[in-house]
Amino acid sequence: MALAEVASLRSEDPFRKVGAAALDWDNRVIATAYNGLAPGFDAPSGFWDDRDKRQKFMLHAEVNLCSLFKRGEAKLVATTTMPCTACMQTLCAYGIKEIYYREAYQDSDACEIANIYGITLEKI
Ligand SMILES: [Zn+2]
Repeated sequence: MALAEVASLRSEDPFRKVGAAALDWDNRVIATAYNGLAPGFDAPSGFWDDRDKRQKFMLHAEVNLCSLFKRGEAKLVATTTMPCTACMQTLCAYGIKEIYYREAYQDSDACEIANIYGITLEKI
């Protein structure tokens, strides 16, 4: 979780900075990531002013994280905020078995998804 928190410091989003870290089956750190814009995209002036308008362009930390390894390589993900529904689905697709988060996120079906697929999802 400390690694996820450090990764979140790199996020440019002034409203919500999310970081995530992935461990493999030997508990080695294989990836860290944070929420942000697609690599190489330079935000035009004023882009960060309107959260509602920019929200759809932000790539979530968990999606960026999963772009750094292949399916089945990571066992555990720590993320500073509970995964949203779409990120929880992505983590499932990548075969993640344990997810730990620090801050709850109310607009998420992550708990229900974790329950049905037998994935550990715990607030720590
Ligand atoms: Zn998400």
